[in-house]
Amino acid sequence: MSDFSQWPLRAELLEALASQHMTVPTPIQQAALSDILAGRDVLAQAKTGSGKTLAFALGLLQGLKAPSGVQALVLCPTRELADQVTQAIRKVAVRLPNVKVSAFYGGIPVRVHVESLVHEPAIVVGTPGRILELIETGALKLEAMTRLVLDEADRMLDMGFEPAIQAIRSALPANYQTLLFSATFPEAVRALSKSYQRDPLEILLDTDTRSEHIEQLFFEVPGNRKNDALLQLLGQLQPAQALVFCNTKIDCQNVEQHLAKAGFDVCALHGDLEQRDRDEAMVRFQNGSVRVLVATDVAARGLDVSDLPLVFSYELAHQADVHVHRVGRTGRAGKDGRALALVAPSEMGRVQAIEQQMGLTARWQRLDLSSIKLAPLKADWKTVVIDAGRKDKLRPGDILGALTAKQQIDGKSVGKIALFDTRSYVALHKSAAEKALQLLRQDKIKGRSFRVRLLSP
Ligand code: ADP
Ligand code: MG
Repeated sequence: MSDFSQWPLRAELLEALASQHMTVPTPIQQAALSDILAGRDVLAQAKTGSGKTLAFALGLLQGLKAPSGVQALVLCPTRELADQVTQAIRKVAVRLPNVKVSAFYGGIPVRVHVESLVHEPAIVVGTPGRILELIETGALKLEAMTRLVLDEADRMLDMGFEPAIQAIRSALPANYQTLLFSATFPEAVRALSKSYQRDPLEILLDTDTRSEHIEQLFFEVPGNRKNDALLQLLGQLQPAQALVFCNTKIDCQNVEQHLAKAGFDVCALHGDLEQRDRDEAMVRFQNGSVRVLVATDVAARGLDVSDLPLVFSYELAHQADVHVHRVGRTGRAGKDGRALALVAPSEMGRVQAIEQQMGLTARWQRLDLSSIKLAPLKADWKTVVIDAGRKDKLRPGDILGALTAKQQIDGKSVGKIALFDTRSYVALHKSAAEKALQLLRQDKIKGRSFRVRLLSP
């Protein structure tokens, strides 16, 4: 059998999966679920997008006992990932009555979190720093905890969270199941597993990044010609979208500015941006109103895009496993992908490590930079932002209704709608964007007027 009913899952979980059209387990789910359900420690490495969240979410939800405090703790490296994991767990828990799943991370007053913990959630998701803070203030009690998940363990280690995780562990009861998930498998993750897990089932599914449908190419380019090389390649290839990785925030900013000046619909995503700007960059890339996103590895972690035809290394990553992770962002779900790297002579030493890690020989291609042909990537979509969101009880249907009620805008011209607490983002086909602004301003949404504007470009 190759569907979820092969496991003794609660009917409510099977129904939720079926209603979300998740009928066939992904390879990591197939490999891990039996042991997760049996309560065994599991160490699982599989690339981003392989379905690790659902693998542990099912384990946590299946194991919930009648109300008895916090029963599971999930640690994630970033706020965005904590939010994503929380949403994913809630989605599969919809048919279970009264399962509270809460997310906790920095950037929000501790007081708010302390208040929310008065009614204890069954599952807590959060970043190590904030979770530790909540344990230390006594607001978060974990005596009843039976499961710990370390999600994106490699990234948490990169971000220096190990001491916080260690401190959290010392506040946990004696016996619990530890599930450790990682997109890559460096020595540090193995060491973490060794000290945190007992006889874990090890699952390593690294082979996908070498698969046939990802074409990986390397270009030797002098450091001062990289911007030209990027313009040239993006113009030649005309990918629907591209994610460009930089090693530094400064590079991110410079590359974004360079592409914007050349007429590209582009955004940057890095840790120096305000949270709001990061949200916006992700939303605009996800809804197609931006064709190129220039990001640091850490910031791009929170980005959930399943269909990315092209990733670019503006500079090679310093560590081979980070490179593997970049490549793994393309060619998902059997689709074709391309991973291109611009390599300055000073970066040559890193190529060998990548070849070793990926078990391949780098394919080098020549790039003619004698004349640069400009063909900027322009988006067919624009993003309208409404200064109202979930807290205003706004739902996607309300926005769609306000836009299409008078039949001046066709439903097909309305793209993704993303709701945040106090803002909403609507993708509109460029031919309908001005009209949409007009409608939203004149006719109001659910009888109320909110500030509405178009994001540039
Ligand atoms: P990872 O944590 O491994 O990077 P995620 O857990 O975020 O990946 O899953 C990536 C995407 O795949 C999500 O959008 C999720 O809803 C989807 N997904 C997971 N499992 C299945 C499944 N069995 N069938 C269909 N889609 C799935
Ligand atoms: Mg994940």
